[in-house]
Order: sequence, then structure tokens, then C-alpha cells
Amino acid sequence: MKNIRSLCVYCGSSKNPKPYYVKAAADLGHLLAESDIKLVFGGGRVGLMGVVSDACMEKGGQVLGVMTDFLNEFEGGHTEITDLRIVSSMHERKMIMFDESDAFVILPGGLGTLDEAFEVLTWKQVGMHGKPIIFVDVERYWSGLFETFLNHMIENGFVRAEDKKLFTLVDSVDGVLQAVYDSPEANKDFVSKWG
Ligand code: AMP
Repeated sequence: MKNIRSLCVYCGSSKNPKPYYVKAAADLGHLLAESDIKLVFGGGRVGLMGVVSDACMEKGGQVLGVMTDFLNEFEGGHTEITDLRIVSSMHERKMIMFDESDAFVILPGGLGTLDEAFEVLTWKQVGMHGKPIIFVDVERYWSGLFETFLNHMIENGFVRAEDKKLFTLVDSVDGVLQAVYDSPEANKDFVSKWG
């Protein structure tokens, strides 16, 4: 894995997340600043998005936020970051976040977080990129999805067992950077599952 200079964090925007999720987001923001890795995120001030970006700024890190104009009112574009870009669509937002990032880390979050995470996973599945994708299983937040539902999809033939290699699940923020660097070089030659 080449050196990473920027890392995209997908995480929840809901207000009043539980303290252990807040701690994980703050730890990740600090870790990125201390590791000289730019944080790329959705640009909001609310929920874990606000926590991770504040924490990164607090330690002197570089933060790029990408917000849509219509969500700016609800999610409050974070203006005290290095660079806040306001765009006009969700697709543009996600494309910039993708292009600007060398790896993706998913903290606990809701439907928006799932949408963003599964988009980069499916793009990796079809060989569009080989960037590391790391889920942080804070308080086993993702365990139901990966231990139960993913296996159910594999058992029923809708997902290939080898597609588990598209991502890494780590227990805590402490394991994130190691997982990024240990992430297997993805095979970018698309192998069809429909053949
Ligand atoms: P959530 O996990 O639902 O709190 O959402 C986390 C972030 O994902 C928020 O910044 C949402 O604006 C964003 N989001 C929600 N749905 C989408 C979508 N379809 N495309 C891009 N971003 C989204």
C-alpha cells in the first residue's frame, strides 16, 4: 500500500451520539492530524461529522469538507475548517470526496453513512478503484451487518465470499492506520460474478 495523504471519514450526522461514538470520532480526528493525513468528510457541523473535524482541526490537521447547498441549512457547513466546498448535488459531493481520498474509514452512522460506504464498496467490487475501506466496529456497531446479514447474502448466493476482502473491520480507531497499510492490493481487473 502506498503512503496515504488523505483519508475520507463517513459517519453519522445525527445529534447527541452516545459518548463512546463521540470518543471514537475525536480519537480518529486527532490521529489523522498527528499522522499528517488530511481528513476529507461531508462538511457538516452536526453529530460525529462535527466531532471528527473539530478534533482534527484542534490538533492542527488539514480538513476538507464537501457540503451541498441545500443541506447546508440543516447540517450547517463547517466554516472553521481548512477548506469547505459547497456543491449543488449529492453525487458531486460524493465524487469529490472519492477523488480527494486515498482510503475510506467508516464510523457508526445512519442511512447516509451506509449509502456512502456501500457506494465505495461496490465501486471496488467492479474494479473501479483499489483504495482501502475500513469499518470501525465501535461497541460492535457493525456486527449485525457483517456477522449476520453479509453471511446471509453470501449463503444465498447474492454476494461472493471473496468480496469480504473488499473491506477490513477493526475493533477500534487504534487499528485504523495499520488496517489501511495492511489492506491487500485490490485486484483492479474486474472479475465478473455474472460469467
Ligand atoms: P447519516 O449517516 O444518515 O447521518 O448521514 C451521514 C451523511 O451522509 C450526512 O452528511 C448526509 O447528508 C449524507 N448523506 C445522506 N444521504 C446521502 C446520499 N444519498 N448521498 C450522499 N450523501 C448522503
